[in-house]
Amino acid sequence: MASHKIKIAARLRPRLENELDDEGITIARSPGGPSCISVPNPRDTSQVFNFPLTSCYDQSSTQEEIFEQDVRPLIDVVYSGVTVTVFAYGVTSSGKTHTMQGTKAEPGVIPRVVEAMFLQKASLERSSVELAVSYMEIYKDEVYDLLVNRETAPKLPVRENDVGQVFVANLTSLPLASVEEFDILYSRASLHRSVGATNLNRASSRSHAVLTLEVTMTDSAAQKTLTGKINLVDLAGSENNKLTGNDPTRMAESAAINKSLSVLGQVVHALNQGASRIPYRNSKLTRILQDALGGSSVGLLICNLAPGIKFRQDTLNTLNFAVRTK
Ligand code: ADP
Ligand code: MG
Repeated sequence: MASHKIKIAARLRPRLENELDDEGITIARSPGGPSCISVPNPRDTSQVFNFPLTSCYDQSSTQEEIFEQDVRPLIDVVYSGVTVTVFAYGVTSSGKTHTMQGTKAEPGVIPRVVEAMFLQKASLERSSVELAVSYMEIYKDEVYDLLVNRETAPKLPVRENDVGQVFVANLTSLPLASVEEFDILYSRASLHRSVGATNLNRASSRSHAVLTLEVTMTDSAAQKTLTGKINLVDLAGSENNKLTGNDPTRMAESAAINKSLSVLGQVVHALNQGASRIPYRNSKLTRILQDALGGSSVGLLICNLAPGIKFRQDTLNTLNFAVRTK
């Protein structure tokens, strides 16, 4: 079988304070090894569902552990001129944003990647290494630039150049001089993530956020330029979007999310199977990430899981999504 281009990891978040009375489900690393996760059926303890994955992190795992084990190795890959993508997948409140962004006390993948990118840059003796950032949001299958003010930001068109490369036209890309500069840009940009919704948290759980760091290495002696990229994607919540109401905005949101996440699953599966036809074109998310997912590119899909009993079906859905993509 083809070697996996996109590694599949799972992370179970700890119970939150308001979940302590919750019966909770336990997910254990199975005795078979650290790369398998088992979900016992609380109603029938003799029944256990096993999900083989590339790596799994239980409720005691730390941000550092995940970064060191599965993300740091990708930094060298980026600096070798390859495009890398890290996705956080899961239902709303499963820990996607915690994993990707984290907090000041527990910084997640994004700030750690930024720091590592700058450290790697400092260690290089090439004539010129430049870092740049772009940040977009995909909401209801439309692309918005998060580095500019929402009022002035039109929907960005997705285009294809002569050689079939897909790109987002007019997306802002800003040069980055330091980690501090990134922090300022990033916190300002996060405020733009609110697409016509009254509740920021709701809006952010209904859209995909794609942060991209690009490194351009110019060797003036050899007159060669090498570009590497890392996309860090906080996906929209994967909860079952069956709707009882008839709010047209929510219907459109749900349809767009369901479609793009299911196409993402199909694309990752097709890539991991070494299929010749990859269904990139079936959603804007995968179309935009086409170059990032195809060719020599590699990636990591982190499936976030919430422990509460009320998330049981979501947990099984997420793990089924994860194993199907292998
Ligand atoms: P999502 O982005 O998937 O909707 P969040 O990242 O916002 O979920 O997480 C939901 C809540 O759980 C937040 O209050 C967050 O701080 C907390 N949380 C998530 N993962 C962890 C973790 N590994 N350790 C501690 N708290 C966590
Ligand atoms: Mg979130």
